[in-house]
Amino acid sequence: MRQKKIKTKKQGGTVFPWPLKKRMKSCGKLIDISVPVRAGMAVWPGDPPVELEQMQAIEKGDAANISRIAMGAHSGTHVDAPLHYISGTEGIDEMPPDALLGPARVITVSGGARGEIGQKELETHGIGRGERILLKTANSAFWRARHDLFHEEFVHLGAAAAGFLAAKKIRAIGTDYLSVGGYGGEGALAHRVLLEAGIWIIEGLDLSDAAPGSYELICLPLKIEGAEAAPARAYLRKFS
Ligand SMILES: [Zn+2]
Repeated sequence: MRQKKIKTKKQGGTVFPWPLKKRMKSCGKLIDISVPVRAGMAVWPGDPPVELEQMQAIEKGDAANISRIAMGAHSGTHVDAPLHYISGTEGIDEMPPDALLGPARVITVSGGARGEIGQKELETHGIGRGERILLKTANSAFWRARHDLFHEEFVHLGAAAAGFLAAKKIRAIGTDYLSVGGYGGEGALAHRVLLEAGIWIIEGLDLSDAAPGSYELICLPLKIEGAEAAPARAYLRKFS
């Protein structure tokens, strides 16, 4: 449907005459796949804690509500740039805009021994060049059950499976826990293999509400100058 734009003299800008609900409907169904940023939420062991503090409050007589946020760049839903593991490469502020905007596919994977996803399991999904692949696993439930607990045994990509995705030249990979690689072992190697192949990584997604299938991905990390990662808001839009 064509949107009719109207000019308002007062603001001098362009506004849409429809109510917000109607506008949302016209966008197709949006699924929020980001996790809430909360004080005390689980972070990678050794990372800074997430702190939210109300510095000014209307209830206490201040003119406005003002919060202070302190958190590591790898808290909750976030994007890893190549700079995370490779010195002198792109930081999060240099992310190409189409890296995490566009068609994406949610696939369900379970992982084998100790939650490691192997190449064999990925091979069954017909993954092709340029795809944005989001791995939906049992991890998504962690965010809703005990978001304050770090789970060491989460489903993750093994280094060989990361190599398989690198060889396929996918565009981006999304995972539903705090690291694409496992806790200890090959976790760092899995990151390096993906980042060296130019694959952008989203971590900390909650894919509970996203059934396997094709979507449009909308994920934009904060533009933090020179940083290796940044928190992000992420949505999926169902193709109708
Ligand atoms: Zn990360």
